[in-house]
Amino acid sequence: MMRDFSTGSAPIALNTATLGPRASLKDAVDGCLRHGIATLSPWRDRIAATGLHAASRLIRDSGLTVAGLCRGGMFPAADAAGRKAVREDNLRALDEAATLGAGALVLVVGSLPAGSKDISAARRQVEEGIAALLEDAREFGVRLAIEPLHPVYAAERACVNTLAQALDMCDRLGGDLGIAIDAYHVWWDPDLSRQIARAGRSGRILGFHVSDWMLPTASVLNDRGMMGEGIIDLKALRGEVEAAGFAGPVEVEIFSERNWWMRPVDEILSAVVRACRTAV
Ligand code: ZN
Repeated sequence: MMRDFSTGSAPIALNTATLGPRASLKDAVDGCLRHGIATLSPWRDRIAATGLHAASRLIRDSGLTVAGLCRGGMFPAADAAGRKAVREDNLRALDEAATLGAGALVLVVGSLPAGSKDISAARRQVEEGIAALLEDAREFGVRLAIEPLHPVYAAERACVNTLAQALDMCDRLGGDLGIAIDAYHVWWDPDLSRQIARAGRSGRILGFHVSDWMLPTASVLNDRGMMGEGIIDLKALRGEVEAAGFAGPVEVEIFSERNWWMRPVDEILSAVVRACRTAV
């Protein structure tokens, strides 16, 4: 049964990226409180700018819940020293996630190291990197959530590009490894419904991110739309994700250099709350 967002308030998680690069963690926390948003998903640069312990205190005192910390991952590296540095950074990310009480560390897995054309090798390195991190994640009490990215990012940001690919990896590595479903990245996939149901059966859906795909799109990186502005059928998608058992908040994650990031925090958040009620 799909939750009714049209009356009352939708369970929203604000991803701090939505407020743009100028907004601080405190701006995000205060904005959530003003707009009745109960959950926050911070990026690590916002945490670093505040300092981990100050950030943790700020969030705890606010009463907000933390959904996912963005982001760990970026596993492939050109050599052993590079892979060691990546692992250390991921351990720091797990420590931050645990300190903030985040349920999950979102993994943007990375792709080709500089100079490489071997995407199969990159995928192997991703799997090895995640495998090596699983036990640490368990000790920190944080779940790892692989976020498949749209194939347009396959060269640099993520060589895991479909839910099927992410879920196959979960099946091979086992444990409580999970996935984050981001509408922007997966809406086009002809196998989407089947894979969402599959993810639900194995209890692996750890996050549901929304924004919209603009037509035309000026930049695949920083021209995402507010929900309802573009061509993704977000209501249908949420219906499938919830039918698969997901009961968490809808995480709003909008990278919008030319539009939303230019606006004041309160204007963005009013639009977020409205769009979640009408378009998601
Ligand atoms: Zn996302």
